[in-house]
Amino acid sequence: MTCDDTPGDTDIDALSELADRVGVQKVVTDPDILRSYSRDMAPIPAAGTPAAVLRATSTEDVVAAMTWASSYGVVVVPRGAGTGLSGGANALDGCLVVSLEAMTRVRWIDPVNRVAEVEAGVVNADLGRAVAEHGLFYPPDPGSFEVSTIGGNLATNAGGMRCVKYGVTRASTLGLEVVLADGSVLRTGGRTRKNVAGLDLTSLFVGSEGTLGIITAGIMQLQPAPPRPPVTFAAAFDTLAEAGAAVGAILESGTTPSVLELIDHATINAIEDYRSMGLERDWSALLIGQSDGENAVADVEAMVALCAGAGFVTHTEDPAEGEQLMQARRLAGTATAEAGPSITEDVSVPRGSLVAMIDAIAALSEEFGIRVATVGHAGDGNLHPVLMLDRLDDDALSHALVLAERIAAHAVELGGTVTGEHGVGMLKTGWVRDQLGQTSIDVHRRIKAALDPAGLLNPGRGF
Ligand SMILES: Cc1cc2nc3c(=O)[nH]c(=O)nc-3n(C[C@H](O)[C@H](O)[C@H](O)COP(=O)(O)OP(=O)(O)OC[C@H]3O[C@@H](n4cnc5c(N)ncnc54)[C@H](O)[C@@H]3O)c2cc1C
Repeated sequence: MTCDDTPGDTDIDALSELADRVGVQKVVTDPDILRSYSRDMAPIPAAGTPAAVLRATSTEDVVAAMTWASSYGVVVVPRGAGTGLSGGANALDGCLVVSLEAMTRVRWIDPVNRVAEVEAGVVNADLGRAVAEHGLFYPPDPGSFEVSTIGGNLATNAGGMRCVKYGVTRASTLGLEVVLADGSVLRTGGRTRKNVAGLDLTSLFVGSEGTLGIITAGIMQLQPAPPRPPVTFAAAFDTLAEAGAAVGAILESGTTPSVLELIDHATINAIEDYRSMGLERDWSALLIGQSDGENAVADVEAMVALCAGAGFVTHTEDPAEGEQLMQARRLAGTATAEAGPSITEDVSVPRGSLVAMIDAIAALSEEFGIRVATVGHAGDGNLHPVLMLDRLDDDALSHALVLAERIAAHAVELGGTVTGEHGVGMLKTGWVRDQLGQTSIDVHRRIKAALDPAGLLNPGRGF
């Protein structure tokens, strides 16, 4: 069976063999359920229909799946919670989707070394709750943290609001357990803080978007819980450029924000339309920041003083009030999605180029006649311009895609990247080639060919 064939008798025999190996209840072929596993949350890239979904509950199941897939030449699409925004987990016709969401065991937590080994299906927030019992915390916090899996976070090298201080998922990864295309199990890294033996295979697999192997577990670096609740500030500006300049001033100042987020005028209004959060509809931009260290109060006071030109500034030590300000930022994605059809973009630029990128998005929005609501992890130079569409038909989508590509190209011109955290997926394979260049793409392909010579793992994604 290949992904181009229509499933036939042989396929049913082959699937029965898989079911025999892993247990029949784990192999799903019900068409309604298959449909729900056919795509992630990106509206654009096409999705096919899988022949089956394997709901793996152990590394052995994944080994059986890859051994089976390589003997039959079946394409495999690994999947976590399906919250991706670049089509990375979209099925191909006739493929096997290997879902890791039922592998939810926290294998161990080692408080001395501040490390935990968790299975790929553990939800990010559940890891946070589990380690909190030991006075520890796991910093990477994608907006989807209540649903997305550690496996998906590892495969996309996910970011989030706290990454401005603590780094993205790769910075919190000490080792991995990966099932390779031929079914062998690779273990990388370990629980030591220092480990320089061999090539850094852990880093190679983090962000590989399911193209090199299926991550079944991660050894995650934890941090001591912050010494105090974060102090939070919000500053509203008349222009996005002034807000961008304040971000630059804060980053240059030596203060240590643990969160530094930007919300533009269109997003403020989408949030207020969705749920009244007390934001003024005529604000052009809102900056929300936090500090969580010993000196959080002085740190935030210094950041507030750097918000020159802000028409409104507030800061609070009260965790509930701070959480309310953060809640406005967290609602941004849902609010813009509820406002109508939209495409969430994801570019990242050197932080000094934030204002130039914001200006370019505004100019391109006008040129294309498409409203763009921008929100982002400003402290990381990572912006999410959300293209707000009147309709989702083919013409509207292809016009929007050209705009998205122009925004990404501009980020690259500024020394940035076509994706800061959502991954290349199926959406950006053409664009990433322009960013990386031919030599880099050739190296990517040689690595892929060495690890997955038959090209069975997530083909057409990443590079
Ligand atoms: C509301 C919302 C907010 C978001 N906010 C953020 C954010 O702040 N930061 C951010 O980085 N992302 C964000 N995202 C995008 C998404 O949540 C992340 O990319 C997340 O890491 C995906 O995890 P998942 O479990 O849903 O993976 P999936 O979507 O299922 O898969 C993502 C990719 O990883 C591969 N994959 C999944 N599991 C494995 C595995 N175990 N082994 C190998 N490959 C695997 C898939 O094939 C696919 O290519 C957001 C999405 C939504 C809907």
